[in-house]
Amino acid sequence: MIIQSDWHIHSECSYDASLKLEEIANKAKETGIKKLGITDHLNFNDEKFLSDLKSSAESVTEYQKNHPEFILGVELTPIAKPEFDYIQKHKTRLGYVPPVTAKPYDPEFALTKEQLSALGVRYAVGAAHWSLDASVAKGSLDDINSVIKEWYRQQMWIACDDRVTIFGHPWYNGQSAWYDDFSVIPRSMNMDIAYAIKENKKYVECNEGVLCAPTTTEKFRRQYAEFIRELFEMGIPVTYGSDSHSQYASCHEEMEKILADVGFKDGDFSEIKEVDFWF
Ligand SMILES: [Zn+2]
Ligand SMILES: [Zn+2]
Repeated sequence: MIIQSDWHIHSECSYDASLKLEEIANKAKETGIKKLGITDHLNFNDEKFLSDLKSSAESVTEYQKNHPEFILGVELTPIAKPEFDYIQKHKTRLGYVPPVTAKPYDPEFALTKEQLSALGVRYAVGAAHWSLDASVAKGSLDDINSVIKEWYRQQMWIACDDRVTIFGHPWYNGQSAWYDDFSVIPRSMNMDIAYAIKENKKYVECNEGVLCAPTTTEKFRRQYAEFIRELFEMGIPVTYGSDSHSQYASCHEEMEKILADVGFKDGDFSEIKEVDFWF
């Protein structure tokens, strides 16, 4: 099982990453990865994130001149619609006060597809990272079912949004809520998400960051890899994403082993087809 393309990488232009394009290019050559999608974070529509994305676009465009294996993408995350609206008006997140509501906030992404394309972005990884649910947002993971429900809600939205090319890291959870036993996620939710991804003709990501997270158990890794394999067998194209932020492809060999164990073979992972790029 050899991984040949990586569609989810963060460069030093991401607020939370330190990788230089050269480091990525060198390590990719060693590991046999032939296509490299740079997807820096565009979390909010404020000036900080917009200028990060501009730097990302500029550096990738420049580097591509000698390294055509690089492709410019972006990682989008759902944010609360009231916060998006506030930033549109004030150009900053400073001073934003979440409105009190019993209902979870509607999700939104920071930019439109037209705005992203104008910056040179050719595809998007869309992925949930945090709660937009007013009660869950207070940080308690005691009620795991409400966390699951909120992730499900956002993921269904992502699977249906027109800007998303790749459904990024399904069920990623920064607080490791279900990283010991994936079976706490109801199968019906997984199937709903799978059918939404399929119907909307998106790719689903096999994410190294989730599978190799130090907080995951052996049991979880196996269950999660089997889940990705099941999506693949349903006919959903699976892309690979290292989601590297600092060291590039540090978990690469371990990943190839985990994936081979659940039946993945060379060629099972997809590249983004030319027709699926925005331009
Ligand atoms: Zn992410
Ligand atoms: Zn990422």
